[in-house]
This record gives sequence, C-alpha cells and structure tokens, in this order.
Amino acid sequence: MSELSRTINATDEEIASALKHAHLPSLINVLVHLTGDSTLLDKSIKPAPMTIGGTPPGYPEEIETRIHELAVKTLIRGRDRGFEDHPVDETLLLDMINFIAGVELTDEYIPYALDELNIAPKQEEPPLEATVTRNFHVAIVGGGMSGLLAGIRMQELGVDFTIFEKNADVGGTWYENRYPGCRVDSPNHVYSYSFKPKDWPQHFSDRNALLGYFQETADEYGLRARTRFETEVRELRFNEGASTWEIEVEGPNGVETTVANAVIAATGQLNRPKMPDLEGIEDFKGPWFHSAEWDHSVSLEGKRVGIIGTGASAFQFTPEVVKEAADVNVFMRTPPWVATNPVYHEYITDETHWLLNQVPYYQSWFRFHMFWTSGEGLLSFARCDDSWNDNIQSVSPANQKLREILTKGIETHLEGRPDLIEKLTPWYPPAAKRMLIDNGHYYRALKQDHVRVVDDQIECINETGLRTSTGEQFDFDAIIYGTGFSASKILFPMRIYGRDGTELREMWNEDPRAYLGVTMPNYPNFFCLYGPNTNIVVNGSIIFFSECEMHYVSKCLRHMLKHGYTAMDCKPDPFESYNEKIDESSLKMAWGASKVNAWYKNANGRVTQNWPGSLVEFWHQMRELNPDDYEFTLRKEKVVGTAGLEPATT
Ligand SMILES: Cc1cc2nc3c(=O)[nH]c(=O)nc-3n(C[C@H](O)[C@H](O)[C@H](O)COP(=O)(O)OP(=O)(O)OC[C@H]3O[C@@H](n4cnc5c(N)ncnc54)[C@H](O)[C@@H]3O)c2cc1C
Repeated sequence: MSELSRTINATDEEIASALKHAHLPSLINVLVHLTGDSTLLDKSIKPAPMTIGGTPPGYPEEIETRIHELAVKTLIRGRDRGFEDHPVDETLLLDMINFIAGVELTDEYIPYALDELNIAPKQEEPPLEATVTRNFHVAIVGGGMSGLLAGIRMQELGVDFTIFEKNADVGGTWYENRYPGCRVDSPNHVYSYSFKPKDWPQHFSDRNALLGYFQETADEYGLRARTRFETEVRELRFNEGASTWEIEVEGPNGVETTVANAVIAATGQLNRPKMPDLEGIEDFKGPWFHSAEWDHSVSLEGKRVGIIGTGASAFQFTPEVVKEAADVNVFMRTPPWVATNPVYHEYITDETHWLLNQVPYYQSWFRFHMFWTSGEGLLSFARCDDSWNDNIQSVSPANQKLREILTKGIETHLEGRPDLIEKLTPWYPPAAKRMLIDNGHYYRALKQDHVRVVDDQIECINETGLRTSTGEQFDFDAIIYGTGFSASKILFPMRIYGRDGTELREMWNEDPRAYLGVTMPNYPNFFCLYGPNTNIVVNGSIIFFSECEMHYVSKCLRHMLKHGYTAMDCKPDPFESYNEKIDESSLKMAWGASKVNAWYKNANGRVTQNWPGSLVEFWHQMRELNPDDYEFTLRKEKVVGTAGLEPATT
C-alpha cells in the first residue's frame, strides 16, 4: 500500500487526541513528507542522542503545541481532500534520518532507508525466465522465520522449492518455546519482516502473537503446501558429477533420500536445547524439563521449584514461576545486565494503533526510530576504546557511563536488598553478553520472600534436588533448566558432506565460519541463514539479518541460473580474509574483548556467532554478489534436480 493512500478514519477531535500520543520526531518526519516543509527539521529540537536506561528529555511545551497544531491541520486536510505528494530527495532523506537518530550519520544509511522503509517505490528484479529455472529445485531446511522468508524469495525468483520442517507447524523458535512469559525482546516494530508490517498488540509481543504472525505469513504465501512437516533433514551429501545435493530425510514415511540443486539451511542458532553438563541429572525423581520443552502438565502451584540459569529465557519465565510456586531457588552463574524499558510488558494504546495504522509514513519512521534506539544506536556503547584502560568492568567511557546507568537501575529496582544488589550487579562490561530488557518485573520477583538467588556452583543433581559446592543440599518438587541452546553447534545435528566428502563439522572443528555468514568453500550451492557471525548482542533483530542474507542468496541463485552454471563454490581467499576481519572487529567490541563466559564463544574464546559491525555495514555487504568470490561450474548436460518429493500438506 502506498503511504499516501492510507485513509484517515477519525473525527477532528479523535485526530487531535491521538496525535498527542505521537513520538514527536517521527511525527515531524511525517509532516515533512506531507507538507514539504523541511524547515521543520529544526536542529534545536533534534532528539538527544541515545539515552539508554534513562528517559529522553521532553520538548518545550510551545514546540509540542506548534507541531501538534500543524499535524492536526495537515491530517484533517488530508482526510478531507487527500494528501499531496512532496518528494523527498536523498539529501533531505539523510536530514530526516539524522533528525530522528539525533546524530550525524553518513550517507550509507540512505540506500538502506530507501529499501527498508516504505517511503519510495522499490526497484524489484523480475522473476527468472522459466527456461532457466526449469529442473532447478531448492531444498530449504527449516520452516521458522528464516525458512519462510527463503520460500517467499524463491517464489519471487520463480524457483521451485520444498521446505523440510521437523516440527508439525511453522514458526521455529515461536512454535517451540511455550514457556510462560515467553516474548520477543527486540521491539516488534523491528522484529517483523520489512515487507509485512503488523498491527502488533504489544511493543514486545508474546509468543502466541509471534507464532500467529509466522503462521499468517505461511498462509498468505501458500507456504504450507510447499512444506514437508515432521520431516527432519539428517544428512546432506554433495554429488560432484551432478552438482546436486543428496538429502536424507526422516519423516512420516520413514527415511527417504531426495535430491536438490541447492540447499538453504534455515535451521536457526537457538533450536537445540542445551542441558548443563551436571552429574546426576537423570537421578532427580521429580519432574524436570528444559524451558524450550516446557511440560505444561506439571503444576507448579504451591511447589518447591529449582530454576537453573538466569539467561534470556529464565529471565522471562522466572517471574511467572514465582507467582505460582511456594518456594523458588534460582541458581545463577553470571547475572545479566538489564536495561529498563517501561513499555516492556505494556499493550500498545488505541491512540498508538491509530497512528501506526492510519497516519501516512508514521509506521515507517517509528520503525526507523526503533531500529536506531534498540539496535544501531546502541553500538557506540559496545565499542572498545583503545585508550580506556579497563576491559574488565567497561570498555570505553560510553560503556562505563552505561554501566553506571544500568547499575543505578539495579539499585532502584532492588532497593532494600543489598544482598541482591551485590549478587545481581554484573562484574563484566555491559554489552559483553546479550543485554536483557525489563520494566522491573524480574527484580520484583527475586525480591519476594519465597525466592532465593544462589550463586554457589552446583556440584551435582541428586534424587531429591541438588547439592552445591558449599555442601548445601536443596530439595525440590520440580527442576526447570533455563540453560539455553547448543548455539555454537550451528547446523547440528545434520551431517553435511561437501565436495571431497569432508563433513562440515569436522572442517569447522568447533569453530564455525562462513563467508558473509552464508557460504563455505567446498560446500557448493549450500547457503546458511542465521549462520556463523550473524547473531546479535545489542543490535537489532535477527529478521533484519535473515532478510539481508536472503537478498544475497537470491542474487547468487539468479547469477548462477542466468549464466547456466550448475554450481558455485566460495573460494578460500575471500572466506579466509572475511573471517580475519570478523575476528579483528570482534576484539573491538565489548563481547569480544571481555573475558566473560558467553554462549557465543567457542572453547578458544573466539566469537563464532556474533556480527561485530553495524547493521548498515551488514546490509551493504549483502547487497551484491561479487562473482570473483566464487568458482562456478558450467552446465555440461541437462541436470534433473527436482527434489522428487511431493510436499505434504497439513
Ligand atoms: C526464547 C527466544 C527468544 C528470542 N528473542 C529474540 C528477539 O527478541 N529478537 C531476535 O532478533 N531474536 C530472538 N530470538 C532468536 C530467534 O531464534 C530468531 O529471532 C528467529 O526466530 C530465528 O528464526 P530461524 O528461522 O532462523 O530459526 P528458528 O526459529 O530456530 O527455526 C528453525 C527451524 O528449523 C527447523 N529445523 C532445524 N533443524 C532441522 C532439520 N535438520 N530438519 C528439518 N527442520 C529443522 C526447526 O524445527 C525450526 O522450525 C529468540 C530466540 C529464543 C529461543
């Protein structure tokens, strides 16, 4: 839908009332579009640069009144007579971006904004001719957010595909994680596909809303009919002669082998629950389960519960368990840094729904505001400063400032509990591990009388509970493991044999690497989404990364098919130099420099999961394929590469 074709459906009074709730910088950018008046971007009222953990300063009343009056007048006129188009050129667009970010950004943000925000018509490439896509079939492994996106892009390209999904439905993370309190912690207005905005119920919606969104996506694009549910890909083997992948799957019909010309692995990084390596886990006589496999048949009402872990999932379910259980012990290895966000559990108000749905360009600029404040703008707090002589507690003056703000938040939320303040204030720099978001919910739960936070090491699990290294025994009715996922075992447990028969995991040797996070030498026509070094610590949403990666994969397939190639294989040189750059850059970020133990480092301390740059850098590096980075195999004879399996519908 074009922004100017939005219909304003409200009385004068309703318009005036809703506009009082608008995010002012987003509204000012809307007014630039609708009035053509660029003088509204007055530097004296530009937002202050990022104010994490604090409340952004308000605007003087007379400015709010002036903008409000202009907005009311403009929207009423637009409602009655339609909106005029005032084109925005690149210089003005950069001014608008800078205005909302509150800092001077470089023009590398312009193409990103033009593509991401619905403010200009997109330059889309047409589908490939049927003559070049005939007999070419892509196998997509996984029907979560990334796999669905891959399916949509294959449809746009005109390429036939099958999605293999081990679960009974789409949604991946949001299908599997059903624990109480499960929700997104990237704001939903950036945690959604750029091409499919949604009227989200909450700023950070819960698991049901997220699952619903991905189910709707599957339905809208007819992806269920292209998916083989309850079918797990177990093994992939590249056939050099035919330039195809032989794929062993296990599903309702048992084990089968199928063939595809290319594989897009969209298996997620957080898909295989990880249990801690503790002696005696199986000995516990009561119910126990991992958060990603929550056993809803177990009532926790009035029970004694042991919670192992304080990571992102445990952080969300602990307050819910505390509400029900009679006695809760939380076993913590490393406390998380938590940024306060007052709207974390809040519903979006009617006025904000109205603004997002009816005011032209408001949703786009609100999305950019979220992109900046929840991601891109945070990076400066995570970057190391060489002249800062610390790295243990903080990595730069900005990071130290952030530490002080976050520490103040902990002290406020835990007021009256010096014991908890001491235990829950992290020693490591903020942004060295994924920062969590809350509005005090978690700390309020931990302060309750029936809750104890234990930071002694767990020695073993036993029949009645567990024993810590101090010799203290804790007895429980149930144990819940919030111990995360086998994230560093990317693509696990699939066995993937490349050109010379080498298994990918052996080649990686606990150290996953890829070129641009997507391709690996010796594994032709094999593309990863959410692969090595494409995860986030502070910046943004994984959907952004998957969209960039899929853009690149589409470019690869388009190039290959247009030129009659049957295979493309990443050359070792670009792969090596890219990974050298990744390692250098990781050391310049809090999460690479700090010695804190984190799930995104391998046994040697190398950061294998996270992207160390800005989002806009990632966006740019994925825009175009450089054919020099690949070795191409020319078609020798007609290759029949249909997967040969009819997708099952469920
Ligand atoms: C509790 C939780 C909260 C999160 N919150 C955020 C957040 O706030 N912001 C954010 O950006 N990210 C968040 N994430 C990360 C989240 O995983 C990604 O945002 C996103 O869901 C990844 O989508 P995906 O499709 O790449 O992977 P997944 O959602 O993990 O989907 C992978 C799919 O592949 C299937 N699969 C795997 N292996 C096979 C196989 N061999 N054969 C067949 N099928 C297979 C799985 O069944 C699954 O359906 C969160 C993750 C978790 C667990």
